Amino acid sequence: MSNDVPRLRFAPSPTGYFHVGGARTALYNWLVARQSGGTFILRIEDTDLERNREEWVDGILSAMTWLGIDWDEGPYRQSERADRHVAAAQRLYDAGLAYYCGCTRDEVERRTKDRQTPGYDGYCADRGLEPGPGRALRFRSPDTGTTVVRDVVRGEVSFENATIEDFVIVKSSGQPLFHLANVVDDIDMRVTHVVRGEEHLPNTPKALLLWDALEGGPTPVFAHLPVLVNEKRQKLSKRRDPVAIEDYRDQGYLPEAMRNYLALLGWAPADGRETLTVEEMIGEFRLEDVNNSPAFFDVVKLGHFNGEYIRALSTPEFVSRCAPWLEAAPWSPERYDAVAFERLAPLVQERVSTLSEVPSMVEFCFLEEPTIDQASWDKALGRNPLASAVLAASRDGLGRCPWTAGDIRAVIEEAGASQGLKLAKAQAPVRVAVTGRSVGPPLFESIEVLGREKTIARLETALERIRDAGPG
Ligand code: GLU
Repeated sequence: MSNDVPRLRFAPSPTGYFHVGGARTALYNWLVARQSGGTFILRIEDTDLERNREEWVDGILSAMTWLGIDWDEGPYRQSERADRHVAAAQRLYDAGLAYYCGCTRDEVERRTKDRQTPGYDGYCADRGLEPGPGRALRFRSPDTGTTVVRDVVRGEVSFENATIEDFVIVKSSGQPLFHLANVVDDIDMRVTHVVRGEEHLPNTPKALLLWDALEGGPTPVFAHLPVLVNEKRQKLSKRRDPVAIEDYRDQGYLPEAMRNYLALLGWAPADGRETLTVEEMIGEFRLEDVNNSPAFFDVVKLGHFNGEYIRALSTPEFVSRCAPWLEAAPWSPERYDAVAFERLAPLVQERVSTLSEVPSMVEFCFLEEPTIDQASWDKALGRNPLASAVLAASRDGLGRCPWTAGDIRAVIEEAGASQGLKLAKAQAPVRVAVTGRSVGPPLFESIEVLGREKTIARLETALERIRDAGPG
């Protein structure tokens, strides 16, 4: 098929939140399609009615859109193609390549529990059963020879046909199963490259046998992508690890940072650099260069990555990306001041690794009273005998100095010096009194944006609180 225009597909089963492994698979398929002028197909494999949910389908579509992974065909629904699957099953049956089986699970288990080869024992293979209630259709897999998967990532992987059981392709209920539906769809959609997770490698010899039986001719190129693991080298699990793309979106990761990071989970450009534009990824990605060892999904590194992407935004772009987080912030809308936010934005942009951290960094400016972090208060003010004097001197100086960050700094520096404190020590109580926290954007600029009146009122309030608490 190598002369054809490549046709790739992403074929997720909507059985849960769309996770990073699925997104990486989608991305790699998309990169190959985009770099080769090929077609990228989205096919929702929704035949498992008990485990599928419509909201998971929506989650896949919206997460792919968010990541900028667009598709040229689809989304096709596998469930709408059941007649094609049934017709293919019929052809296999008519050709003697599939047979009906009336065994119950218990019967198979009883007969096979002491056998060396796992799986179905072929009991019905030559019984010539007609279709009927309780009868599933099994594919007659060859008893001898080997099936070789030629995998771009893993090289040649051989499977003894004797170890491949006669697997069910249509359940006794009439429902076509994964192996059949997946291959029939790939044939119908003229798929040239099957790029999917490593967990599907054991399914591939079955796919090749089916492909051969139904279509003949060249099979698609296969590439099985390495498993993703956590910091303990355990396979990522939906239950244990933070894997849902939606969660990363909601926490304020940038889609371009996420996409860049996903691309590196199993691949790196030849020169080993890590920050790539999407055009560079499309230009440089090579399926042949995908690694076959497990890829570490490093949430900490993703955070650093995201921070770098945030810092690379222009400030106006950063401001507009922050909008959804500011709308959901804890202040009342009439207290929000867009100009003040724009002034704080470049300071905040330097200090966050996700956009969801932004509101807590600027809320001191838009809440009537700052939210006091008690531990910070206790350390900087409650247990600090010099705090009152520093706050009072700062209040006095800030009441009359010119209102620039430089002058504000000079006042606080002097207030500290009068108590024998260096600037860093003098800043701490002022910061907590004015912003409620011990960390945040640079203090003098923050105070400048907050304004003289509010700053002085907060210093007064803090002084009263200290007085009320009495000598410790
Ligand atoms: N529907 C399968 C899954 O979500 C993917 C099958 C394939 O890519 O061939 O794991």
